[in-house]
Amino acid sequence: MKQLTVREFFQKFPDDETCLQHIFDCRYGQGHECPKCGRETKWYRIKAERAYSCQYCGHHLHPTVGTPFESSRTSLQSWFYAIYLFTTTRHGVSAKEIQRQLGVTYKTAWRMGHEIREHMADVDNLDLDKLDGHVEIDETILGGKVEGQGRGRHENKTVVLGMLERNGDVVTKVVPDTKKATLIPEIRENVDEWAKVSTDSHASYRGLKKEGYNHESVDHTSYEWVRGDVHTNSIEAYWSNLKRSLASTHIHISKKHTPKYLEEFEYRFNSRENPEGMFSELISTYPEKKSQ
Ligand SMILES: [Zn+2]
Repeated sequence: MKQLTVREFFQKFPDDETCLQHIFDCRYGQGHECPKCGRETKWYRIKAERAYSCQYCGHHLHPTVGTPFESSRTSLQSWFYAIYLFTTTRHGVSAKEIQRQLGVTYKTAWRMGHEIREHMADVDNLDLDKLDGHVEIDETILGGKVEGQGRGRHENKTVVLGMLERNGDVVTKVVPDTKKATLIPEIRENVDEWAKVSTDSHASYRGLKKEGYNHESVDHTSYEWVRGDVHTNSIEAYWSNLKRSLASTHIHISKKHTPKYLEEFEYRFNSRENPEGMFSELISTYPEKKSQ
């Protein structure tokens, strides 16, 4: 598979109808059993709404329900194209860029960006295997600027824990602090107990051996960066790429929305072996939302 060019994108999805048909085919398809009458049925497109109707009982299926496009007046083609933009960039897509490319308002563009990030996170989280092999763990701080005035004055600082399996996936989590009691449960939840773990000498990681991990650390404070295969170079490279990309694409990222940006970069990194597959995966995969 190779990355679609913009021209190929518009050939494949010339209008909303094609996009809706694509979503229908991915989620249901002809012959899909009718949830009302229970028969394997032919589904007819209802022109007046984004729906298909059962040949036998007339029951309606709405393919966009539960997708990021469900309650949006923006055209499906615009949504598909915005998703396409997210999969063809290395550094993310700003709301300004979506606004400019799609001709929607800034507010709409901003909302679309967040819906797409959430969707990327949902698709990324379908693969729930714990990290294994040799895992590098490190924490970093995003932001740090003092914002607001008077009583609203606060530091916009977010602590992030990162776990990266060498030649594998990365998992990043916003955490309230870097205390042992905070980090260890996150690590247990995401890293297999048989994994080898490399960290720096931060005190909170000292409990990892007791937890049963094969844990080694390098002591950055005494200028030790690598000892045999023990180092945190991969997760540190991930941090610097993340920070550079966020700074070059976005003017401001609030603490509240930071997890969504992290998930976006996580999904892109975890798809790095098959970047061409991201677009078709995102427009064909609609995980059931937890709230439904
Ligand atoms: Zn039916």
